[in-house]
Parts: sequence; C-alpha cells; structure tokens
Amino acid sequence: MKVQAYAATSPKGALSPFEYELGPLPVDEVDIEVHYCGICHSDMSMLDNEWRITQYPFVPGHEIVGKVLKVGSQVKHLKEGQIVGVGWSAYSCLSCEECMSGNHNLCNHAKGTIVGRHGGFADKVRCQAAWTIPIPDGVNLLAAGPLFCGGITVFNPIIQHNISPLASVGVVGIGGLGHMALAFLKAWGCEVTAFSTSPEKEAEARELGAHHFVSTHDKDALKKLRGRFDMVLDTVNVELDWNAYIKTLKSKGKLHIVGVAPSVTASIGQLMNKQRSISASPTGSPHVMTEMMKFVARHDIQPMVETYALSKVNEAMDRLRHEKPRYRVVLDMGKR
Ligand code: NAP
Ligand code: ZN
Repeated sequence: MKVQAYAATSPKGALSPFEYELGPLPVDEVDIEVHYCGICHSDMSMLDNEWRITQYPFVPGHEIVGKVLKVGSQVKHLKEGQIVGVGWSAYSCLSCEECMSGNHNLCNHAKGTIVGRHGGFADKVRCQAAWTIPIPDGVNLLAAGPLFCGGITVFNPIIQHNISPLASVGVVGIGGLGHMALAFLKAWGCEVTAFSTSPEKEAEARELGAHHFVSTHDKDALKKLRGRFDMVLDTVNVELDWNAYIKTLKSKGKLHIVGVAPSVTASIGQLMNKQRSISASPTGSPHVMTEMMKFVARHDIQPMVETYALSKVNEAMDRLRHEKPRYRVVLDMGKR
C-alpha cells in the first residue's frame, strides 16, 4: 500500500510531498487512515535533528486521529472502521519487565512513531495495535490529536504522583502541553496556577482552568509563592531558574519536568531540607492513555486548536516555530 506523506530531507528543511510503500502488515500492527494530526514541539525538535536521532527522509506527526483501515492477523481488540488515536510511541516489546508491569512507555525496545518510522503528516500511518487507542464516542475528533502526545504527557504525572484534588499545582509554559495541563488539573479538582512568559495569555489561561496567573517577567512573583505547591509541572523546552521554582514547593513537593530542556541544576539543600524532589517522565502507557480518554469524554476536555490543510504544512510549522499558536496547530487531512 502506498502512502502519500510530507517529508523533510535535511535538518530544518521544508516538507515536500513524499510517497513510500508500507509493505506487508505485521501480525500485531494496524494501518490507519489519518484524519487529523497535531504538531508537537517534539516534531520540530526532530525535524531540526536537535536530539541527534532523526533519520531522513523524515515524516513528522505523532498526534494522530484516524480510522482503522486494516488490522494484522493477531489483532483482537480493534476492528476496521474504528476511530483511534496514536501518539509518540508506535511499538513496545510487550514482554520486558517494564511492559509486563504496565509501564510500556518506559520499554527499552520502544519505537517512536517518528523515530525510524514515518509519522502522521500523511494519508496513512502504521502502529502496533497495543499503542492504537480507541477514541470514545462524543470526543471532538478535530481537536483530539494533541491529547495523544501533549495531553498524555501532562496527564500521566497526575497519576504517577498520585496528585490529590486538594493539591495546589503550578504549570510552567502555557503552550501545547501547558494549556492541556490547566484543563486536566482544573477538572481533577486542584488549585491551578499558570506561569507564563506571555502576559497576553492570562484571560485564556483562566478560562482553560487556571485559578491564578503569574507573569514570569515579574522577577519577584516566584519569591511571593514560597512553599505554595505540591507539584510544579514544567512544560518548557529551555532551562529555567530551577532553584526559584524549587523554593515554591511545599515540603515533599515535586518539580516534575516534561519539557525537553537541555539540563537541570538545583541546590541539594533546597531539595533536602524539605524532602522535595525533581522527576521527569515520557508520555504515558496505553492504559493511562485509555483512562485519560475516558476522563476527557466525561469532562468534555478539548484542546484549543488552529487548523491547517496538509498542503499548508510548512506554514503550520512556521506558525509553531516563529509565533505562539493558540494553543496547538492541527493538520486536517480533509477526510471528514
Ligand atoms: P509549545 O507549544 O511550543 O509550548 C512551549 C511553551 O513554553 C510556550 O508556549 C511558552 O509558553 C513557553 N516558552 C517558550 N519559550 C520559552 C522561553 N524561552 N522561556 C520560558 N518559556 C518559554 O511546545 P509543546 O508542544 O507544549 O512542548 C513543550 C516541550 O515538551 C517541548 O520541549 C517538547 O519537546 C516536550 N515534550 C515532551 C514530552 C514528554 O514525553 N516528556 C512529550 C511531548 C512534548 P508561555 O508563552 O506561556 O511562556
Ligand atoms: Zn509530542
């Protein structure tokens, strides 16, 4: 089966039409007709070969919503015509200790949807059935793609850290990931504070779920929030004043990092004297993704999206690279 995609042939290169052959369908995988695909900051980092793992021609796209076209012979739980989502991971071994304990997103043999595979800036994509997540009825499909990478990445820490509805949580960076974090945490019942370099985002951040908004241009703002948060969730891809954020944590509070900043340096004293900790996580398991989708349907959580046709993919990438979209750019393949 031939796939019509958009690919770059060099780092930071423009995306242009690219056709490839999918080959025989493995017994445990499915072929999906792509309807919508979100653009994550990680697509841009991969396009630029920022993490030194990109293979060219490179087809980005790992926030996919589509329809199952064909299932492998051993796939039991998905059927043709089913509406599904695919995120960062397209494969895990299903037999290592991590997979067997439900932590498929930590599998040593995992393969990313856009790492050595071709992603969802295309009319079709292939994914292991285990990582192909059914979308419940009632979910707005146009806006659902971003949930499968950005969304799960900020939902998973709530589960991993057992965040109580009584908790006070800060979200740093109100972009693709951050705006979904506000909505999840509000629905979870937490007191939510948005930290942003963009004061013009305040009204929307409050509508999305923030009870409080802090402009990080105000250098004294963090000092006033000492000992305030159970968790600070960092979604920014640059280094922050880490110690200033650590001081905003309560005793046993956690600075949880999901943004891919180059490194983190912190005062051991500030961590130790209040038993605070720093942690980080990649996306989430298929089980947590499935639970997240039930939560999304129950609370009618919808990412805010701007849509572009696939043929305008370079404009869409530029919007993310040079401007601050509100809040996720989604490619519409014109299939619905
Ligand atoms: P995004 O839409 O570009 O949003 C990032 C936000 O960070 C911006 O909207 C901005 O928010 C803030 N920001 C940007 N530059 C900044 C700067 N110089 N200083 C402070 N804040 C700045 O990106 P995204 O798609 O949400 O992705 C965010 C990060 O998460 C990326 O590094 C991405 O690769 C990573 N990621 C990780 C995982 C994982 O599994 N851990 C999964 C997906 C993505 P304000 O305007 O509010 O300041
Ligand atoms: Zn992503």
